[in-house]
Amino acid sequence: MTFEDLRLSDQILKAVQDQGYERPTVIQEKAIPLVLQGLDVLGSAQTGTGKTAAFAIPIIEHLIKNHSNQKGKRKVLSLVVTPTRELAIQIGENFTAYAKYTQIKNTVIFGGVPQRTQTNALRSGVEVLVATPGRLLDLMDQGFISLQDVEYFVLDEADRMLDMGFIHDIKKIIAKLPKKRQSLFFSATMPKNIVSLSQQILVNPRKVEVSPVSSTAETIQQYLYKTNKNTKGQLLLHILRNQDIEQVLLFSRTKHGADRIVRDLRKKSIESAAIHGDRSQNQRQKALKDFKDGRVRVLVATDIAARGIDIDKLRYVINYDIPNEAETYVHRIGRCGRAGEEGISISMCEPEENTDVAAIEKLIKQKIEVITENPFPQTDRAMNADEKKAFEKEKQRKKQEFFANRKKKEGSSKPGFRRGRR
Ligand code: AMP
Repeated sequence: MTFEDLRLSDQILKAVQDQGYERPTVIQEKAIPLVLQGLDVLGSAQTGTGKTAAFAIPIIEHLIKNHSNQKGKRKVLSLVVTPTRELAIQIGENFTAYAKYTQIKNTVIFGGVPQRTQTNALRSGVEVLVATPGRLLDLMDQGFISLQDVEYFVLDEADRMLDMGFIHDIKKIIAKLPKKRQSLFFSATMPKNIVSLSQQILVNPRKVEVSPVSSTAETIQQYLYKTNKNTKGQLLLHILRNQDIEQVLLFSRTKHGADRIVRDLRKKSIESAAIHGDRSQNQRQKALKDFKDGRVRVLVATDIAARGIDIDKLRYVINYDIPNEAETYVHRIGRCGRAGEEGISISMCEPEENTDVAAIEKLIKQKIEVITENPFPQTDRAMNADEKKAFEKEKQRKKQEFFANRKKKEGSSKPGFRRGRR
């Protein structure tokens, strides 16, 4: 299929040609015709698949067809909400590139910077607004933005949005959108909470998926160590004694866990660095560069932070813990063995994670080979239902205690601090 086959306006075809795109990517081929027909779309696709153009191009086409004769101040006709400043900027650049031969204007708003330039751009009027949730709500509250004319709404990277705690912001934004609109919803993974959110936004959506997530797993050699919770650290050192593992991307479920792993490895003189949401953009970029340049052997990442980073010729991935969404496992191991290289994934499973491994094996339709030569085998048993309940209760109590203490501290040192705005 070519872009011409998609029956796009000449202005768009020319702009796409300027970008050097020869043909639509899979997600574009599937999504663009649906969006052009005015249908709601539930897209399961990651960054890197060309998904931005998959929504931006048909939205621009709608704007050219339906709104070229608009008189007076430009109104926000299309809203794209995305979790991070980097993504927002990237999406804005895409709109600018594809709409360069049209009169359509866009602007990007995100938190963490003074609002003046953003409010100036809004005052002069745009048809396309790309925003992160916190700043969008702030500027709506201040009366700089009205969503009453939005006809095309995009929620991008929905899973990441929920992971970042934006659910309430998203609901507030949706409540302000006109009921009659076209909505597009993109997410890399589709766990239950995402599907349920999509049902609140979309009407009779068409599903668009790029390469079903279970497919990458077939090309990667996968191994499993069964161990106990308290022996994972030692087991990791045992695994890393294998000098064939020159470099490895290691996944940790939590940011806290990632930092602890890095500390422990450094104590043993194993060069490592962490990338996760609590680290600044500079720290993350430095860690990634050190890894790519070979100065760091073990790059420890959380799932969110690892998404979107591209590491060429990565051979090994270690799952320090087993993700409780089977799809996440497939995304993780899909980070190695790219571009025809051999990929090897090693997972470390404690008793409580045995059921997660079973779910993964069901999804990928294969058994993961268990390594029997293991100095730290699994000897503990998984908790029974009552033990688990008590454990969860205690965990919840500790969490509440932690947040209460933090609130107390923040209350005394930062009187004007507001949570959740970025
Ligand atoms: P995205 O998934 O939207 O972040 O896009 C990933 C990259 O693919 C971006 O650098 C786009 O410019 C590029 N891209 C998007 N569509 C195409 C296409 N049809 N052909 C070649 N590159 C593309």
